[in-house]
Amino acid sequence: MTPDQVWTKIYEMSEAQKIHLATSHYKPPPNFRFPTVQMNGYSRAFQAQWLKQYSWLVYSQELDGVFCLPCALFCSDRYTKGSLVNSPFTKWVKLSDTLHGKNGHIHKSYHDDSVMAMTTFIKSCKNPTATIPCHFSNSLQIAIQENRQILKRIIQAVQPVLRSSVYWFQGGDGEHQDVGNPGNFIAFLRQLAKADPLLEKHLSVPQRRNSTYMSPMSQNEIINIIGFKQIREGILQEIRESSMYTVLADEVSSHNVEQLAFCVRFVDTDLNIREEFLDFHRMENTSGAAIADAIRSMLRKFNVPLENMRGQGYDGAAAMSSCRVGVQARLKEDSPLATFTHCAGHCLNLVIAKACSNINQ
Ligand SMILES: [Zn+2]
Repeated sequence: MTPDQVWTKIYEMSEAQKIHLATSHYKPPPNFRFPTVQMNGYSRAFQAQWLKQYSWLVYSQELDGVFCLPCALFCSDRYTKGSLVNSPFTKWVKLSDTLHGKNGHIHKSYHDDSVMAMTTFIKSCKNPTATIPCHFSNSLQIAIQENRQILKRIIQAVQPVLRSSVYWFQGGDGEHQDVGNPGNFIAFLRQLAKADPLLEKHLSVPQRRNSTYMSPMSQNEIINIIGFKQIREGILQEIRESSMYTVLADEVSSHNVEQLAFCVRFVDTDLNIREEFLDFHRMENTSGAAIADAIRSMLRKFNVPLENMRGQGYDGAAAMSSCRVGVQARLKEDSPLATFTHCAGHCLNLVIAKACSNINQ
């Protein structure tokens, strides 16, 4: 049988056959006489002790050669490799050098990868219900569990910080958190760590600085996940479950950028009237058409049916309130029952501002 025929057979094998080959490969019996061949004028033959010395080495009686079993079965680019992997190694004089010389096989990274792949494969075949992390070493599993616990504590610390509406996050310069003002978030974590040995260890071990989960980027990522994927998605679900809703929106200029603040008013399943902020939308222009398009696209993005809109509340600016070209008129084309009301909050604001200006006079 040629090496290619051997490989064809391997590729056609079931998992059970593969695991049998990986764990119970043919071993020559103790009295086996390995064929002698002439090399450099000397008679040479394979030595049985080599199989004990290298546990991953297997001998093929048919080919009178040896393979590295993990690499032969699991090397990802086997066809680019030479003997030991893609063809039998038969030059017994050079065997030691080839296996563990300076550039020997055991020093190749693909060999390590293949050994790891074969070990994982055997474990997963023997225990198919186990998840991949279960195949890692115990120390790695412990590290994974520990990191999860740390991340959980950091997320738990973020939540009360978010509710406080104070500028809690990041720190002095955002990068060097150990100098100057570390930021309220880090200060809060340090306070918690005094009663939490795991968190205390996490904050004090310098070699873990590349995975602290406390950088400004991580803080923002956690906030985004909590805000968008947890809180907002919960609110949206409640809006979808209510049969009707009102849109509240106003555009504001901040740092030379026009933004549309977008809120929804609705009655939840406990019959509470709720007004919830959903998002800011950056506006290139603030015409009635552009704002109406922005509201439509946000409702589509949030998967809230436009036809369920029953109210619209904006300020009195023509772009919003005009019954011909305002946002309210444009959205009524899609949802005729969406009655426009001059926003009561905005009216109150106008009254207070006017009253204050009268007092000053
Ligand atoms: Zn190998």
